[in-house]
Amino acid sequence: MKPKGFISIVEVGPRDGLQSEPVVLPTAAKVEFIERAIAAGLKRIEVASFVSPRRVPQMADAEAVLAALPRRASVQYIGLVLNMKGFDRAAAAGCTEVGMAVGASDTFNRRNQGVSTGESIAAWHEISAAARRLGIRAQVTISTAFGCPFEGEVSTVRVVDVAQRLAEAAPLEIALADTIGVGVPAQVGEVLDRVREALPGMSLRGHFHNTRNTGLANAYAAVQAGVTTLDASLGGIGGCPFAPAATGNIPTEDLLYMLGRSGYDAGVSLAAVIETGRWLQDQLGHAVPGMLVKAGDFPPPGPQAI
Ligand code: ZN
Repeated sequence: MKPKGFISIVEVGPRDGLQSEPVVLPTAAKVEFIERAIAAGLKRIEVASFVSPRRVPQMADAEAVLAALPRRASVQYIGLVLNMKGFDRAAAAGCTEVGMAVGASDTFNRRNQGVSTGESIAAWHEISAAARRLGIRAQVTISTAFGCPFEGEVSTVRVVDVAQRLAEAAPLEIALADTIGVGVPAQVGEVLDRVREALPGMSLRGHFHNTRNTGLANAYAAVQAGVTTLDASLGGIGGCPFAPAATGNIPTEDLLYMLGRSGYDAGVSLAAVIETGRWLQDQLGHAVPGMLVKAGDFPPPGPQAI
């Protein structure tokens, strides 16, 4: 099959994944997780969040994780930040990229980060300017872009408005996140089309959770709408401690399989990702949601047919 194009995957398992696991992995295991992802070919990795360790104890060792990772010119270590204080920590720790999150829903934003959406947009502008001064890449995610656990439906008009206000600070890209996994493919296509109309030329990224089993379908809809960067978590681990009943991100291995068999290249070894998914199960002490970890690749890897 002729390649249809390149889809870049941002591995969010070490942050979005691990932050809602009941087991807190030791720093060394987190570092091995990240090293395995890099060895598999993943080049942008969300390695930690710089938030209150009281609220998210799984991320309390963010600085120690960064300190243990060797600098690599071809790899971006992304730190999630929610305010200027978090940005300062991420910058001091050596993150080469920061991701800020701003909720499309005001209620979600207040529950997740304690301020209004407007206040978070203002904080993003400050963070973006500070990042530029320090030579750190900065991008921003619109969370609850497809629905909110507290307010219900989130209008496309609202998402476009938030995106336009975030775009004023010239982000590397804007991600649209289905934080609680309620979106469906038709909606994903519609929201992406409206945002693209409002912001032609802006790089867009998709972040999908599989809470209602629509995650991979939504990822494919995003690709068909022209998105070339997708978030995924190895093993499909994850959720959100502040979004009731949110479950994992789309599994990296399942996404790779779907894209690969559909003619897209992601530059990542599926075999190495499946192997890491199995390793991750041992670390966490339970099965991961990803299907390829159970089912394996197809055609089965083996001796080349003569
Ligand atoms: Zn998420």
